[in-house]
Amino acid sequence: MLRIGPAGIPHSTPSPGGTLEGVRHCRKIGLGAMEVEFVQGVRMKDELAETVGEESLRTDVSLSVHAPYFINLCSDEESKLANSRRHILQSARAAHLMHASPVVFHPGFYQGRPKAECAKRAKKELQRVIDEMQQVGWTDVVLGPELTGKKSAYGDLDEIIELSRHFGIKAVQPVVDFGHYHARIARLKRSDDFVKILEQAEKVLGSDYKQAFHCHYSEIQFTDAGEGKHLPIGMGGPPFAPLLAALEERGYTGKIICESPKLEEDALIMQKAYDKMRTK
Ligand SMILES: [Zn+2]
Repeated sequence: MLRIGPAGIPHSTPSPGGTLEGVRHCRKIGLGAMEVEFVQGVRMKDELAETVGEESLRTDVSLSVHAPYFINLCSDEESKLANSRRHILQSARAAHLMHASPVVFHPGFYQGRPKAECAKRAKKELQRVIDEMQQVGWTDVVLGPELTGKKSAYGDLDEIIELSRHFGIKAVQPVVDFGHYHARIARLKRSDDFVKILEQAEKVLGSDYKQAFHCHYSEIQFTDAGEGKHLPIGMGGPPFAPLLAALEERGYTGKIICESPKLEEDALIMQKAYDKMRTK
């Protein structure tokens, strides 16, 4: 089965409305996943992370983490690379304590560099991060480079699949953001459009991809440069129903994180459609 959940603490979470209450609230409203957003920096204390982890097991809400936005594994500057590694490692530490995986991150920017050069640099930096994670025993946490939404950002579909192939899917898994794909690469309408993306990953990563699946979804505004604002369901596209149909037909398990501004409201619309599809 697929789990569906919001990108962040549900808006309707009762006070005080932190991550812990968010996890409980997801279960209460019938959602089995939540992504913990560290996009402005990792500020969670270890003790809270441990408590959140216990609660996620108790309530059976599967967690993942979104690392800070300030990551650029392709940079020319060592200080920026060091900061990027630090952001990923801090996210991985919290993820390990919360039993959360993957750690989703935007891998970097081309800034005029050839694609091959960016790939080489990202692999070098990720190797250092993975080595450190292995040394401290955070091997339960997978790194998830996300399909980025702007044409200026390193991380198109081929590039994130290649990172996963290079390190193995147990260490690095590609996180397709279907809204970003829709904005950056090609418009998604029918089930076949989604199947093409899934097949591209399956071809390289095999059936492990179907089981370890983690993706982002929302409708989205776009320009020639790629992504604009994320939109609520029904306000722009891509549609979610053909995505659910494609995943169900191909036997996917894993998680869909809903990045709509309406968070849990739209996640629940998807969850209901998914439940209905499965009882047919
Ligand atoms: Zn993201």
